[in-house]
Amino acid sequence: RSMVIAIDGPAGAGKSTVARAVARRLGLRYLDTGAMYRAVTLWVLRNGVSLTDERAVSAAARHVVDILDLALAPDHPAVRLDGVDVTDAVRGPEVTQAVSAVSAVPEVRSVLVGRQRELIGDGGIVVEGRDIGTTVWPTAAVKIFLTADSRVRAARRHADTVAARGTTDVDDVHDDLRRRDQLDQSRAASPLTAAADAVVLDSTDLDVDAVLDRILSLVAE
Ligand code: C5P
Repeated sequence: RSMVIAIDGPAGAGKSTVARAVARRLGLRYLDTGAMYRAVTLWVLRNGVSLTDERAVSAAARHVVDILDLALAPDHPAVRLDGVDVTDAVRGPEVTQAVSAVSAVPEVRSVLVGRQRELIGDGGIVVEGRDIGTTVWPTAAVKIFLTADSRVRAARRHADTVAARGTTDVDDVHDDLRRRDQLDQSRAASPLTAAADAVVLDSTDLDVDAVLDRILSLVAE
């Protein structure tokens, strides 16, 4: 299969879980584009680059694409920088706090979108992000815009984080999601929005299996 399935939407909508399940079920590769913006952000933070220095942040992005290695396996989507595993580090709170500032820099986006297109190549892949259906791969065979009520997204994300790292406050998670949505929707370059031909799936009242079934039936059409 050479199809490209694009899954976009706001933070915490369940994109990763669903995208990985779709890839596993159909025997496709899986690309998490958020991990690429997170990897640039991690490098920026670790190397003392100022988040407001667009030229330096852009240079960081050009460097990071050369040392970034993404495993495209849906069961083990590992992220390595210079051969060092940063899969967990890129999901940490400092990166989550800073990533929207990095992803708003137009040059960062053009560098990463170029790399994403190379990785997609001949297709056979499920791609998760914010701008896949609108910008990265507008000819994707299936485009999903996965969303959910922000309270529900925060509660799900909170459950995941508590399992992984112990206590956090659900209101803090909710504030963080809404802050990121706001920044991602209001940036000048590729703001977060559903493609005109995307199927909007609201998972507020749907579990993972229901969303998965809906996507698989769209693929079969
Ligand atoms: O999906 P995830 O939460 O890991 O994405 C982290 C951040 O990366 C988003 O909040 C957004 O700022 C940025 N991003 C983006 N375009 C993408 C994927 C992620 O701007 N295609």
